[in-house]
Amino acid sequence: MKALLACIFNETNTFSVLPVGRKAFEAKLFARKALSVPPVPCTTPLQIWREKAAAKSWTCIDSLGAWAQPAGMVSREIFEECRDIILADVARERPDIVMLSMHGAMVADGYDDCEGDLMARIREILGREAIISLEIDPHCHLTPLMLEAATLIVCFKEYPHTDVAARAHDLFQLTADAAEGLTKPVMRDFDCRMVSMYPTQGAVMRVFVDDMLAAEGQNGILSLSLAHGFPYGDTADTGTRMLAIADGNADLAQAAAEQFGKRLWDSREALRINWPDIPTALDRAEAATEFPVVLADTGDNAGGGAPSDSTFVLQEVLARGMKDVALAVYWDPVLVDMCCDAGVGARMRVRLGGKRSVTSGEAVDLDVTVRAIRHDMVQKFGDLPSPFGTGVWLDANGVHLVINNSRTQCLHPSLFTDLGIDLAAMRAIVVKSSNHFYAGFAPIASEVIHIASPGTLTADFAAIPYTRRAPDYWPRVENPFADTAS
Ligand SMILES: [Zn+2]
Repeated sequence: MKALLACIFNETNTFSVLPVGRKAFEAKLFARKALSVPPVPCTTPLQIWREKAAAKSWTCIDSLGAWAQPAGMVSREIFEECRDIILADVARERPDIVMLSMHGAMVADGYDDCEGDLMARIREILGREAIISLEIDPHCHLTPLMLEAATLIVCFKEYPHTDVAARAHDLFQLTADAAEGLTKPVMRDFDCRMVSMYPTQGAVMRVFVDDMLAAEGQNGILSLSLAHGFPYGDTADTGTRMLAIADGNADLAQAAAEQFGKRLWDSREALRINWPDIPTALDRAEAATEFPVVLADTGDNAGGGAPSDSTFVLQEVLARGMKDVALAVYWDPVLVDMCCDAGVGARMRVRLGGKRSVTSGEAVDLDVTVRAIRHDMVQKFGDLPSPFGTGVWLDANGVHLVINNSRTQCLHPSLFTDLGIDLAAMRAIVVKSSNHFYAGFAPIASEVIHIASPGTLTADFAAIPYTRRAPDYWPRVENPFADTAS
């Protein structure tokens, strides 16, 4: 067997003002051979697949590795360049198997479905017999073209995504079984007609994920994935879909997808996102008797394409005179450079945040002391390392701010502690993240509060100004199934 491994990874927030061109990929990952450079979370599956393929004496072709931090629309040029590198490798090597790590919500100028486009072209080159396997983020747009072109699609099940490696192992086993003629995978999906977020630490989703895992490998079901959908990508296929893969039986796959999909629909009220606004969240933090309270500034999550420089929460913290509060991370490469030049111990007047977008709020002027500077920082994403760039700790009279030069969300307390900030001494920690922070921060938090903060990512899913996605979804309408009597 010959397997080709490749990765193009981007989650596109079509409402974000930040462009994604070649530089955005070069800033994170753009490697002609993905496995020739140190791994990042999205190339970890390729590493696992190469090891497992070697154990089976398969030949492995190391193709492109490309990843850009989520932002706005990807340029046509960089998507076509990445795609055509992989297609040229496929045409030259003619592998039996193509294994891809992609996000599933990449939108480029002229391409609403980058993953489907790539896989359809691979299928055209290799024909029906080839196996095309895809591991994707659940915040994807699961499209008919993807389901038509791929042999196997597996999403991460956990949100926070702590199971990237576990799902890579699953997908390899499914791929090997199909390649060796032991199974005939058939995929079917069910449209839940929902647009929302589904953190898996809550009781309902915890049981849902555990039940998906328990059903796999039983009664002809090979794999189950919940494609949560990415609410901030405006495409015709945006929304939540349940995916089932059965062994040679399309009816069985359809029934399983419907069973789990309808179960999610039936749980919608328990899953409804109802986070407090900033004043309410800070009232709770100030009233707390155990510390630190961890608050998530979800509206400005770089991991969902936001600039990570909004000041709405900071302004309220300052207006209330709160002390012993740590906030991260503000993306400001210019200010990072200025702090590096001034050095540790410097006292400065700085203008922070509010620069990238109307959703960033007003800039804030502060007198600060530069308490620490650290280069080439890395934070954990589950067990995987994720680059953080240069981090700077600014102390504004008891309000502790982390800024950096490589736009990323807050994933782990180490981004504070590696700079020397004592989180146990803080009353509140504010992180710019939607839910990935939870795995790292919940163990040190007295309480976790998600804030429905203003920003590029709204928690009001009924109000997202879609132009391409039809409005017939919950919670925009109470029952989008009403006209079909389902
Ligand atoms: Zn995701």
